[in-house]
Amino acid sequence: MKPDKALIFELSQPGRVAYSLPECDVPETDPLETIPAHLLRSVPAQLPEVYEVDVIRHYTELSRRNFGVDNGFYPLGSCTMKYNPKINEDTARFPGFAAIHPYQPESSVQGALELMFTLQNDLAALTGMDEVTLQPAAGAHGEWTGLMMIRAYHESRGEQRTQVIVPDSSHGTNPASATAAGFRTLTIPSNERGLVDLEALREAVGPQTAALMLTNPSTLGLFEEHIVEIAAIVHEAGGLLYYDGANSNAIMGITRPGDMGFDVVHLNLHKTMSTPHGGGGPGSGPVGVKTKLIPFLPKPVAAKRSDGTFYLDYERPHSIGRVKAYYGNFGILVRAYTYIRTYGPEGLRQVSECAVLNANYMMHRLAPYFELPYPGVCKHEFVMSGRSLKKYGVRTLDLAKRLLDFGYHPPTIYFPLNVEECIMIEPTETESKETLDAFIDTMIRIVKEAETDPGLLLNAPHGTAVRRLDETTAARKPVLNCSCGG
Ligand SMILES: *Cc1c(COP(=O)(O)O)cnc(C)c1O
Repeated sequence: MKPDKALIFELSQPGRVAYSLPECDVPETDPLETIPAHLLRSVPAQLPEVYEVDVIRHYTELSRRNFGVDNGFYPLGSCTMKYNPKINEDTARFPGFAAIHPYQPESSVQGALELMFTLQNDLAALTGMDEVTLQPAAGAHGEWTGLMMIRAYHESRGEQRTQVIVPDSSHGTNPASATAAGFRTLTIPSNERGLVDLEALREAVGPQTAALMLTNPSTLGLFEEHIVEIAAIVHEAGGLLYYDGANSNAIMGITRPGDMGFDVVHLNLHKTMSTPHGGGGPGSGPVGVKTKLIPFLPKPVAAKRSDGTFYLDYERPHSIGRVKAYYGNFGILVRAYTYIRTYGPEGLRQVSECAVLNANYMMHRLAPYFELPYPGVCKHEFVMSGRSLKKYGVRTLDLAKRLLDFGYHPPTIYFPLNVEECIMIEPTETESKETLDAFIDTMIRIVKEAETDPGLLLNAPHGTAVRRLDETTAARKPVLNCSCGG
C-alpha cells in the first residue's frame, strides 16, 4: 500500500486535463447572462489538473483500500454479509428495468409491474404474510412503516395503545423506530438462556401494549422455543407482534413468522436476499402484514387485474400513505427477484441450512478458546465473550483490530449489549469450509498472541492504510472535508 499515490493534488500540473471534448458546435453563451450573479463562483474551484490516467489510478487505488464481500471474508454478525451474485447485476441492468421512468404509462412498464407483483407474493409466501409493500428503503424504515400501520390499526379500533415492548437483546433500530413512530418502549430482560422471559413478558403486557417487537432467531442466534406462547400472551392483551426479519437467513423454507403468530414482518433484501449493502447504495426493507393490517399498507401497491394486466393500486383509503418516493428502490427489487428465482423454494431452504451449519461449525471449533454464554446449537450466527482475554490486558476491540492485519473484516463486537466483551459472528452460507477454517485458525493464533505478545494486539492494525483510529472523536467531531494539499 502506497498512500502517497492517492494524493492526486500533488500530481497537479497547470494545464493538464483528463478529458478531450469535440469542438463546440453550438454558439457559446456568456454565463454572466444566463446564470444569476449570486450563483456564480467568485473564486475558481480548487481542482487538480491531471491526466486521465492519473484520475483512473487515483480512484482505483482508493477502491483497493475498501473492504467488501468481493475481496474478503466479512463475518459481521447481524449483517448477513453474503456474496452478491453477479447475475443480479446483469438483470438489474436490462434496459427494460434500468431505462424506465416511474411516471411512464402503466401499459409500457407491464414487465416491471409484474416483477413487483410477483416479488410481493414471493415474500408473502416466504414469511407467511398476506400482503407486502416494497416501498421501505431499509430495515429500520420497514420497522417504522410496520409500526405506523400498527398504530393506525389500534386507532381504527378506538384504542390508545402507546407502548412497544422489546427484549434487551433487540437490535438498536427497534426501540429507535418505536420512538420515531410515537411509541414509548419498554425493554424486558432476557432469561439466563438468552430467551424472552415469559414471566417478565406477562407482567409487561396490558391495555397500553401496542406491540412486541422480536427477532427470531434473536441477535444472540437463538430460536425462541416458546414463540407460540409468546404470541398468545401478546395477542390476549390486545397487542400485535412485529417480526424483525432483517436476518432471515436461518429460517427460509424452514419456518415462517406468519406461522409463529406474527402480524407484521420486515425483511432486509440487502441481507437475506443478497442485494448489496451500503457503500452509500440503496437498501430495501419490504414489509408484510396479515389480513387485518392490509388496509393500512402504504400506497400504491402493485396489483393484478382480472384480465391479467398489472397496475399500481392507489385506491386504499385507510393507507398510512406513501413512505418512499415512487415505489421503493426498484433496481434492488430486481436483484432480489433474481436471487429468489435463481434458488427457488428448495434452494432457499438449502441456503438457510448451510448458513446454520457454517455458524455451528465455527462456534464448535472456537468454543475451546472463548467463553460461550449460550452453548448449544445456534442458528445463523452466534455470540462469544472475549472476557478471558482481559487477563492479558487486551480486549475484544484489540482482537478485532488485529484481524485486520490478516485481511479479515472483524465480526460485530460489543453487540448485543447483554454479553460482556461480545463477539458476534455470522459466517453466512456463501463461504467454503477452507475460508471458515482459515479464519478460525487466525482467531486461535490471535488468542495465542494475546498470551505471548499482547502489544501486537494493542497496537494493531499494523498493515492498513490508516492505523488505529480515535473512534470516539471521529464520531463526536467528524472531519468531513479533505484537507488536500495542506
Ligand atoms: C440490520 C438490522 C436492522 C436494520 O436494518 P437497516 O437496513 O440497517 O436499517 C434491524 N434489525 C436487525 C436484527 C438487523 O440485523
